[in-house]
Amino acid sequence: MTKVLLKDIRKRFGTVEVIRGVDLQIEDGEFVVFVGPSGCGKSTLLRLISGLEHISDGELHIGDRLVNEVPAAKRGVAMVFQSYALYPHLTVRDNMGFGLKIRKVPAKERARRVSEAAATLKLEPLLDRFPRQLSGGQRQRVAIGRAIVGNPEVFLFDEPLSNLDAELRVHMRSEIAALHQRLSTTMIYVTHDQIEAMTLADKIVVLREGKIEQVGSPHELYNEPGTIFVAQFIGSPK
Ligand code: ADP
Ligand code: MG
Repeated sequence: MTKVLLKDIRKRFGTVEVIRGVDLQIEDGEFVVFVGPSGCGKSTLLRLISGLEHISDGELHIGDRLVNEVPAAKRGVAMVFQSYALYPHLTVRDNMGFGLKIRKVPAKERARRVSEAAATLKLEPLLDRFPRQLSGGQRQRVAIGRAIVGNPEVFLFDEPLSNLDAELRVHMRSEIAALHQRLSTTMIYVTHDQIEAMTLADKIVVLREGKIEQVGSPHELYNEPGTIFVAQFIGSPK
């Protein structure tokens, strides 16, 4: 079943078109990774899917709905940012429950979902701490926890690990892979790290100047890069 469908998606900022006709089909439960050079439109594309930016042209379907005009909070998606975007004055527990509170989910249900997510991410011992009392990896885990509690149909990650040191990045990468295994939720993940893309993705989308250059499994792109551009990004160095 198709979960996310992009049909000739375009985004203009003023007169500059930065997303220039993207067609993409993402299946339910798939782990899709967007890669490409800085400025090629990865974050913008993710923000269009999440509803943080308005689509200039084309159609975006999530599940069986056309969502171009559906507000971010009602799209069934959750976004995890590189900067974590935690509220400094709220505890881990309240950071995780904040979105649910805004959506008027009753306190008891909120507590249940926060504990469940905390268990999944091994955050229980940290629930009463404030963000400043956490390491980078713990903060990123809280940011992921905050996404999980909303039971999204689609997770969107924008370079979630790029602020972490190399060792922690490897660790968090396997945690995200395990999370995907456990939840089987559709995930769309932006990274500029080739190894992250290769290890996490069912399908890699290579973007170049606002368009798709090639889509394929890590194996396909590595062994049969369609262009030199793709080869430079993920292909074998032959
Ligand atoms: P990436 O995440 O791949 O590095 P972005 O999606 O952030 O790329 O940016 C794609 C292009 O769109 C860049 O040229 C960037 O300068 C431009 N852009 C992004 N956001 C805005 C904005 N709010 N206003 C104008 N231009 C923008
Ligand atoms: Mg970006």
